Amino acid sequence: MPDTDFERIRYDVPVEGVARITLARPERRNAQDYRMLHEIDTAFGIAARDDDVRVIVLAADGPHFSSGHDLVSTACADEFETRTMTGGFRQPGQHGPMVNEEEMYLGLCWRWRNGPKPTIAQAQGKVIAGGLMLMWPCDIIVASEDATFSDPTVAFGLNGHEYHTHLWEVGARKAKEMLFRGHALTAQECEKLGMVNHVVPREDLEKFTLDMASEIAQRPPVGLKLAKLAVNQGLEAQGQYTAMQAAFGLHQVGHANARIVFDGVPVDPAGLEIIRKLSKS
Ligand code: ZN
Repeated sequence: MPDTDFERIRYDVPVEGVARITLARPERRNAQDYRMLHEIDTAFGIAARDDDVRVIVLAADGPHFSSGHDLVSTACADEFETRTMTGGFRQPGQHGPMVNEEEMYLGLCWRWRNGPKPTIAQAQGKVIAGGLMLMWPCDIIVASEDATFSDPTVAFGLNGHEYHTHLWEVGARKAKEMLFRGHALTAQECEKLGMVNHVVPREDLEKFTLDMASEIAQRPPVGLKLAKLAVNQGLEAQGQYTAMQAAFGLHQVGHANARIVFDGVPVDPAGLEIIRKLSKS
């Protein structure tokens, strides 16, 4: 039995057949440190193995879904039980940092994306960079009217966050604009682009999401699993995972370049100011 003494999330079953994982670090705008990501993975695993759970909701406490990676945290992935077959977390150069991101970002998110049960992300407020990395592996996204979505990491000299499915989420042209400018897309824009399934008033967000989850939970688990696989395999046929791995490699080039130019710092320090301005606009 995995350790369920969670510090960064909550796990509950709010209605029959529906498990809910809630990011519970609102005082830090649900910034993700490795502990939070590891706890989310443990919770997805519990829900996947529990036959009474048919649908999984990923929600967040507070006014904002997630501000992205916790840039203050200095944890190393080897402090946690690894969930992907990788190692070398403390190797020099870009090797160690790349492996940490393989395990904690791309690796965990890809596991969640390939889980057997339908997943619904429930988003409010700001969803920034690594926040999208949590949401995009989910099958369905429900957003409140105030939700906004952005990936401003080009300001750090990077090509976007580590789960690089922008192309499939918003289409090629919008993906480029989203990345180049770093501006936030509104929930309404994202619904038009197909990134968001439904936009609802903030006060209705939880009920709308749970009602949909409950409805889906009435369907046979085998049908849900096969439908999910059928769509996901279509994305594979389009080369989605290969493209994501290529983008992950470019992301490591960005980090390595910054380390060379900025004396070991993995991102362009001036980017923080640009991102601060963007988050106010
Ligand atoms: Zn990175």
